[in-house]
Amino acid sequence: ATQSTAARARAEIDLGAVRDNVRALRARAPRAELMAVVKADGYGHGAVPCARAAREAGAGWIGTATPEEAFALRAAGDSGRLMCWVWTPGGPWREAIEADVDVSAGALWALDEIAAAARAAGRPARVHLKADTGLGRGGCQPAEWPELLAAARAAEAEGALKVTGVWSHFACADEPGHPSIAAQLAAFREAVAAAERAGLDPEVRHHANSPATLTLPESHFDLVRPGVSVYGLSPSPEVGVAAELGLRPAMTLTASLALVKRVPGGHGVSYGHTYRTPGATTLGLVPLGYGDGIPRHASGAGPVLVAGKWRSVAGRIAMDQFVVDLGGDPAAAGDEAVLFGPGDRGEPTAEDWARAAGTISYEIVTRLGARVPRVYV
Ligand code: PLP
Repeated sequence: ATQSTAARARAEIDLGAVRDNVRALRARAPRAELMAVVKADGYGHGAVPCARAAREAGAGWIGTATPEEAFALRAAGDSGRLMCWVWTPGGPWREAIEADVDVSAGALWALDEIAAAARAAGRPARVHLKADTGLGRGGCQPAEWPELLAAARAAEAEGALKVTGVWSHFACADEPGHPSIAAQLAAFREAVAAAERAGLDPEVRHHANSPATLTLPESHFDLVRPGVSVYGLSPSPEVGVAAELGLRPAMTLTASLALVKRVPGGHGVSYGHTYRTPGATTLGLVPLGYGDGIPRHASGAGPVLVAGKWRSVAGRIAMDQFVVDLGGDPAAAGDEAVLFGPGDRGEPTAEDWARAAGTISYEIVTRLGARVPRVYV
C-alpha cells in the first residue's frame, strides 16, 4: 500500500493479541493440539502473519479452506503441519502431496483422485476422512461411510495414502445446549469407531470449532480447530463476550475524515436521501464504503467513534464513502474515525457492526477489502 492509501484508512492487526488468543484457546483445550484456521486470508487479518503468530503461540497445525491458501503459506516459509479441506474434482492433489499438505476426503471420487496423484508423485498422501455427523454440508453420509473407509484402507495398504485424520464440523456449537450438538458427537464417536474397526489408525480425530473449543471439552478429541476466536472475536453472543472468554479482538479499523462541512437543517444526505439533517450540523465524510467491504446493510446504523463520541452512519453507505452526522461538533479533515476495534478505548466492535448490518462479526472482518492496508503491530 502507498502512503496515501494508508492515510485514507488502515486496519491495524495486533499480532500480540493473536498470540494471546491462541494461548488462551490452548488453555481451554489443554490435552488437544490446536489448528489455527487462517482461511479467507486469516478472516481478513492476513493469513501469513497470523499463521506465524499462531505458530509462535504453540499452534501445531494451520488450517485453510483451499489448497491455494495452503500453498501460499508454504511459499511464505511455513513448514509445519498444514491441512486444507475445500476440494473439487481435478484439484491440485499432487501439488498438495509434494508440498506436504494434509488433504480432506469425504467422497470416493476424492480418494480415487488422491490415490492417482500419489502414484504419480511416488509418495503417499496424508488424508483426513470427513464424516457428515449432522452439519449437512461437506463430508460423507453415515450410509456411505463404510465404503469410504474400505477404499481408504485399500489405498493405505497399497501405500498411496495414510489416513492421518478423521474429522467433522458442528452445525450449532455457537448455541450451547442445542440438541444437535450431542447428536453430532455421538455420530462422530461412531464414525471413529467404524474407522478403527476398518483397520485405520488416524493420528488425529477432530470436530471442534471456536464455540466448541470454548464451551465443550468433550468435543476436543486430539485437535481443536478454532478460527474466529484466534482473531479475538466471540463466535456468538450466546457463547459470551470476547473479554469474558479471555479473547482480545486483533483488528482495529480506522479512517481519516476526508471532509468536514457545515450544512443547514433538512439537508438530504447521500444516495436516496434516506437521512435528512434534523437541524444545522456538521457532516464528516468517511472514505470507506462497500468497495472496501463495509456492509451497505449497515446504512443508517453502523457506529463510528469520532472525537470520543459514537456517531451513526447517516444515510446510505456508498462504494467508497459514507457520511456521519457530527451533531455540530467541531472537527476537521484528517481527524480519526474508528469504525471498530477491541472496544477498550470506547470504540465500537466488529460485533456492533454485525448487529447494525444484520450479520455476524465473522463477515465484518473477513469481507474487509484488499484496498485497506493491513498494518501489523
Ligand atoms: N473448521 C472448519 C471446517 C471450518 O470451516 C471453520 C470455519 O468455518 C472452522 C473450523 C473454524 O470455525 P470458527 O471460526 O467458528 O472457529
